[in-house]
Amino acid sequence: MVHDPRLSAPLLHWFAASRRALPWRDGHDPYRVWLSEVMLQQTQMERGVDYFLRFTRRFPDLASLAAADEAEVLRLWEGLGYYRRARNLHLAARLMVERHGGRVPDDREALRALPGVGDYTAGAVLAIAYNRDEPAVDANAERVLARLHDVADSPRDAKGRRLFRELALGITPPGRAREAVQAVMELGALVCTPRAPRCEACPLSGECRALAAGVVLERPVLPGQARVTPIGMGTAVIRHRGLVFVQRRLDRGVWGGLWEFPGGQMEPGEHPRDTARREVREETGFEVEIRDKLAVIRHAYTRYRVTMHAFLAGFPEDSDPPEPVLTAAQEWRWTSLEGLAGLTLPAPMRELAQAMARDPRFAG
Ligand code: SF4
Repeated sequence: MVHDPRLSAPLLHWFAASRRALPWRDGHDPYRVWLSEVMLQQTQMERGVDYFLRFTRRFPDLASLAAADEAEVLRLWEGLGYYRRARNLHLAARLMVERHGGRVPDDREALRALPGVGDYTAGAVLAIAYNRDEPAVDANAERVLARLHDVADSPRDAKGRRLFRELALGITPPGRAREAVQAVMELGALVCTPRAPRCEACPLSGECRALAAGVVLERPVLPGQARVTPIGMGTAVIRHRGLVFVQRRLDRGVWGGLWEFPGGQMEPGEHPRDTARREVREETGFEVEIRDKLAVIRHAYTRYRVTMHAFLAGFPEDSDPPEPVLTAAQEWRWTSLEGLAGLTLPAPMRELAQAMARDPRFAG
């Protein structure tokens, strides 16, 4: 994925101002970076900081850790749990002394060959310690990226992992992986939190697709939640004298309070063209003619995969429209295509508006 400065510039700016002062962030000593990454797995930050400080006072470098007794390493680890991690840490330190001249290696394969170093830890060491353009996607980064790009795929299977690595690179300016990797994770830890994200304070809120679609708390979709139900929709773009009809939904449901073109879910066996006509009648009282197919928009929402069939529609012989009788919306208006830009639309409706802007039938 090509790097997108619209995402990375505000993110890095925010990180420069908001980053926490953490002990492993003084300098980029690969030993301290690797140690912090191993220690912080499944450990709360405050606890991790205390242990890191104790550990590095006793073992200030790789050589001192490699030379230590395993019993002493375990004693200093006591209380952090997952003792296998401590054993792996100690063994990895010894291997780095034996095989890598006492250095933390700077290539992915050599790192991955060390005990306790998975894909994420290898990426974090390469990016943070060596400033290599490598992705490192932990749970915080997964959450930020899934929300930012409104990804309905799980980040935990092979396809999802590839996708999330690509998305992580898309927010990394070449040569600045050290900051970008930490910035995404920091945003996930401080702002884009699991249950109470502070979108109003987020430097990426203007670009965030999950926020625009109202599905923030449903991202990321983790394994077990990924069963998908297909939904077909018929939607009508009613045109009259160069303007299109939109309505603002009632404040409930997934699209509550957002603007849309009238339409709805297809009933079993129903053609989307008939759905569009029926939904317009039910939602506005309008009797419209459904004309050409305009676009097919596909979008994944929570557990649903929506296929929206959009049609051009109009009043018979372009007669003047009556006043609508709204049943699913609180407000309506006739607007130009340019006017749509100022309205908050759910993601598939925004895609439809973009398709209309490109469509020669709307030119002029
Ligand atoms: S706008 Fe909200 S959901 Fe989107 S990245 Fe920022 S904090 Fe996360």
